[in-house]
Amino acid sequence: MFQNSITRLFQIELPIIQAGMIWASGWRLASAVSEAGGLGIIGSGSMYPEVLKDHIQKCKAATSKPFAVNVPMLYPNLQEHIRTIIEEKVPIVFTSAGNPKTLTAQLKSHGIVVVHVVSSARFAVKAQEAGCDAVVAEGFEAGGHNGREETATMVLIPSVMKAVDIPVIAAGGIATGRQMLAAMVLGAKGVQIGSRFVASAEASCHLSFKQAVINSQEGDTKLMLKQLTPVRLLKNQFFSEVEQAEESGASKEELTTLLGRGRAKRGMFEGDMEAGELEIGQVSALLDDIIPAATITHNIWKEFNEAMINPLGE
Ligand code: NDP
Repeated sequence: MFQNSITRLFQIELPIIQAGMIWASGWRLASAVSEAGGLGIIGSGSMYPEVLKDHIQKCKAATSKPFAVNVPMLYPNLQEHIRTIIEEKVPIVFTSAGNPKTLTAQLKSHGIVVVHVVSSARFAVKAQEAGCDAVVAEGFEAGGHNGREETATMVLIPSVMKAVDIPVIAAGGIATGRQMLAAMVLGAKGVQIGSRFVASAEASCHLSFKQAVINSQEGDTKLMLKQLTPVRLLKNQFFSEVEQAEESGASKEELTTLLGRGRAKRGMFEGDMEAGELEIGQVSALLDDIIPAATITHNIWKEFNEAMINPLGE
């Protein structure tokens, strides 16, 4: 049986972590990945507190294996989510988009394992100083919110490895076993995978979004809205409006007005493929099927092991 610092930390079988993603990773996806031996994560950023509670309870009913909740710290009712997580005895929390000092001590005082998502070595050091048990180093290729510095995974992983002693989980541009092996050769102890799990049967996002993801080609995503919170978007009508506004020097206020409220829900959850905000990683260009999360997990693990036997493929 495979074991390393990440499988031991989370008490899981495979160092494959499904990313917490707004509108896509509810209890169905998280429990399916955990049942398959990886770590499933409920993405709480798009859930009202009572919705999160319901997802946690359903996840616990669907699997007895460990799972986690991702808490983006931009969330308006942050402490309500934290209260629910503590009450429901969620074993692991991934925090993101904020200062790791804000929540780590509180969560750890309840015996919760805390992992923070970072996009630079500087933030990784902050996470270690805050007492986090591990970091996710998420490179430029990743979907959704992303670092302003645009450091790609290939450079980010060794930089973060040099800067901290806690285990590093690689994210951004990883969807296959060979990509996983490459990240682990660089020193990562596990991988966090988002886009591949968006194109899964269990993801809660709209089928039209899943289809747009598997139909996308190389070059179809771009990091936008750097004046607000940088986010990697799939190209559509809304993307073009943002691009035009940015090229014509729109102010922060004008971009905020253009974004409006609930754009992400409209696109990814309600399936408005033109006016909605569609968040996905560069690696979507490599995906061409919508399959069960357990199959995704097993396929990645199988390819990882095959690649280890013959890494250069000669
Ligand atoms: P908006 O302000 O445009 O809209 C808020 C959305 O979140 C609405 O669709 C709303 O649902 C839903 N929501 C859930 N809980 C609350 C709450 N307590 N108060 C208000 N709205 C709530 O935000 P975004 O859609 O751009 O982002 C929503 C969240 O997702 C943020 O917390 C953000 O940090 C996070 N996020 C995380 C990403 C990641 O990569 N991890 C990527 C992008 C966003 P309804 O329409 O039903 O009212």
